[in-house]
Amino acid sequence: MAEKNDLMEKIVSLCKRRGFIYPGSEIYGGLANTYDYGPMGTELLRNIKNLWWKYFVQKRSDMVGLDASLISHHKIWEASGHVAGFADAMIDCKNCKARMRADHLIENFIETNADVIARSTTIVGDEAISKKILSAVSKSKVEGLSVEELSLLVEKLKIPCPNCEKRNWTPVRKFNLLFPVQLGIVEGEGGMGYLRGETAQGIFINFRNVVDSTRVRLPFGIAQMGKSFRNEITPGNSVFRTIEFEQGEIEYFFDPDNASWNELFEKWKNTMWDFVTRELRVMATNLRWRVHTNEERSFYSERTEDLEYKFPFGFKELWGLAYRTNYDLTQHMNISKKDLTITDPHTGKKILPHVIEPAVGINRLLLMVLVDAYTEEEKRVVLKLHPRIAPYKVAVFPLLANKENLVEKAKEIYDDLKEHFMVVLDDRGNIGKRYLAQDEIGTPWCVTVDFDSLEDDMVTVRDRNTTQQERVPIKNLSNYFHNKLDS
Ligand code: ATP
Repeated sequence: MAEKNDLMEKIVSLCKRRGFIYPGSEIYGGLANTYDYGPMGTELLRNIKNLWWKYFVQKRSDMVGLDASLISHHKIWEASGHVAGFADAMIDCKNCKARMRADHLIENFIETNADVIARSTTIVGDEAISKKILSAVSKSKVEGLSVEELSLLVEKLKIPCPNCEKRNWTPVRKFNLLFPVQLGIVEGEGGMGYLRGETAQGIFINFRNVVDSTRVRLPFGIAQMGKSFRNEITPGNSVFRTIEFEQGEIEYFFDPDNASWNELFEKWKNTMWDFVTRELRVMATNLRWRVHTNEERSFYSERTEDLEYKFPFGFKELWGLAYRTNYDLTQHMNISKKDLTITDPHTGKKILPHVIEPAVGINRLLLMVLVDAYTEEEKRVVLKLHPRIAPYKVAVFPLLANKENLVEKAKEIYDDLKEHFMVVLDDRGNIGKRYLAQDEIGTPWCVTVDFDSLEDDMVTVRDRNTTQQERVPIKNLSNYFHNKLDS
């Protein structure tokens, strides 16, 4: 465990040191669960977002995009059930005042004390502990238990506060994750909106608009990528869980009389897996599917599975896949009193489509690729990011910073390559140090201009993963890198 935390610490430190991720509001003492992306993180995030969009929208004829407002009408969130039910169970330590999610507290305790729990009779055989609770404990998934059941487990398992080790807890209670916003000068409910808690609702409320303004035909998907906001309290683990995060969500609409939801579900599972393993080149051995238990699955969902990644702090949800039936469209139709059905052009049948929803956090994808790419070798730390998502594709170096003709040539190469790729020019320190600095931010190729280059118009290209070097004619460089990126 210490080793794993150590790995997370190393990654967090590299992220800060090399400009990927900074703590939010840092010069004012920080703001919990917020982060800012530095120059490298910004490029990496943008590359992942572009790849996602290209894969799920640009390359598919059955998908269209949407960009809905972040601030939205309170009725949307009442209709969707978020105002009443989008809540986490929270618990406070009365001694040190630490506040945390009760389900996370219990699950972390179960995971680190599995042997003790299996051997002990504390909860097995206790009349107060129902079969439902025992089953949740055995799966280490207690989300979905009531606040009373969670309180009981904290007491029976004698869970200490991870912060101060005392056992002095408040009862478990629910708190809503939505951020309300007061708009303009209108007092009361009329001026009340919410920062969106998920991008999905923007898709449902615009379903009719998209159908009426484009030529989509069932089955089809609407994709949206953008910020969502949740008043999360769990600290730590970098950008894994933040109060403001980037979501990539798809609602894939279909007529259940004409398509099998089970088949669509399986297809989406393959597509998501393919994106992570082939586009992001993450190791398949670090991934697994987890089926939601009956207790944790939303009441309207027929089936939900999470694609989980093995983070240094355990297998955790990366990407959720849910069959949401037509619950959301039904709710919005009933409450807005607008007809959201579409008519089958062949039969004239009115359809209120069902949906399969793949929903991912882009920041979690980013943390995953950083963890997966982080490699320590004897003399260097390398981020073996796939070149497609690496912040810089190429770094260009003049061998010596004080030789004008070398610097000039390097600048010419930089000016040419920057038209095609994100490139950096660096002349600080010796070449060895410059290589190491680029390895740490995952730059796949370094180009060095030396004295021979002035004679033969060739440069040395060094490969990040193998450290092998080869001479390449300057005039072929952009093609050379284009070919490498496409392979
Ligand atoms: P979790 O159980 O981790 O809170 P969730 O099941 O509530 O997640 P969804 O509502 O299904 O999450 O959201 C879809 C995806 O959005 C998740 O799979 C995750 O990648 C991402 N996500 C959700 N909440 C956060 C957050 N607070 N910070 C970063 N990413 C998040």
